[in-house]
Amino acid sequence: MKFNTKAIHGGQKNVDPAYGSVMPPIYQTSTFSQTTPGGHKGFEYSRSGNPTRAALERAFASLENGNHGLAFGSGLAAIDAILKLLKSGDEVISTSDLYGGTYRLFTSIYEDFGIKFHFVGMENAANIEHYISDKTKLIWVETPTNPMMNLIDIKATAAIAKKHDILLAVDNTFATPYLQQPLELGADIVMHSATKYLGGHSDVVMGALVVNENVLADRLYFIQKASGAICGPQDCFLVLRGLKTLHLRMQRHCENGKVVAEFLANHPKIEKVYWPGFKTHPNHRIAKSQMKDYGGMISFVTKGNNYNEAIQIVENLKVFTLAESLGGVESLAGHPASMTHASIPKEEREKIGVVDSLIRLSVGVEDAEDLIEDLKQAIG
Ligand SMILES: *Cc1c(COP(=O)(O)O)cnc(C)c1O
Repeated sequence: MKFNTKAIHGGQKNVDPAYGSVMPPIYQTSTFSQTTPGGHKGFEYSRSGNPTRAALERAFASLENGNHGLAFGSGLAAIDAILKLLKSGDEVISTSDLYGGTYRLFTSIYEDFGIKFHFVGMENAANIEHYISDKTKLIWVETPTNPMMNLIDIKATAAIAKKHDILLAVDNTFATPYLQQPLELGADIVMHSATKYLGGHSDVVMGALVVNENVLADRLYFIQKASGAICGPQDCFLVLRGLKTLHLRMQRHCENGKVVAEFLANHPKIEKVYWPGFKTHPNHRIAKSQMKDYGGMISFVTKGNNYNEAIQIVENLKVFTLAESLGGVESLAGHPASMTHASIPKEEREKIGVVDSLIRLSVGVEDAEDLIEDLKQAIG
């Protein structure tokens, strides 16, 4: 099956043997009756498994070309489950420019449990080798990165991970499986904040993991069940519904992203636009080799790099909503220096490129003309 067909049908055969409903029923139940102790029909308690969640988990696996999918209560809960594969004394090599919540989970929680994190610029995969020791158990990759839109070569990173027998996990939230399929490129685990493009409608918080290998899948399933960070059946239904239009939405996100990126690049008040589709993007070659298209996430800085001017621009926007998050049908704008990255000291955030005037856009699926008009009036 090809991708668009899988978005609609993947893992969804015979979801309702009782009545043949086309969409999986929402099994809003905590428990399942047994005829004799242990005599159940595959489900006994909804933390360990629920049929609506199982349908979604099969859909996740299908879209990422993996054998096993797992759904969690949030993207961070999914990352937390991966970290629980490790033990005190282990080391992790992570992308340096990564989602703030992931950085916080690593440094403010797991460092206290004796896990050491090395944050490394991975645009040149060879940089990773330098940090590898026999304690290294996980390489954590986010690509494209947030909010600087750097790209990391998944295939090259996977080759290094394989050589040293280290797990490679990829946060595929920005790209989605429509644009990039990390398991195919050699990753062991692919992770999503399904809150973003997979759900796609800004109405659910959820996380996902997909893996191929059975032993790894069993361990992650055990962690999901034992730690309990699951999502409810209503939310599973909403994300299943969202997935059915993933390919259509992504196609439009990419088309609109290109129009907006080009408009910004030609605007006299804009200094720099970060979007992997530009041939001048320093990692364009990587984007071209591992992504099908370039997505709708764009960051830019204004000439003069004025903090207040950037705040004014995001406040002026009318079609774009000023909000955290991304990946929904509606366009969103954010100002990392005062929002997502406000807790990072100015010098630290500037080192990774998060300067005062940086604005991040999640370009939605509206009419591109309306988005351009809105940016025009807001930037002035
Ligand atoms: C939002 C996000 C997360 C965290 O996911 P939640 O669903 O908010 O817990 C992780 N990684 C990336 C790239 C994200 O955008």
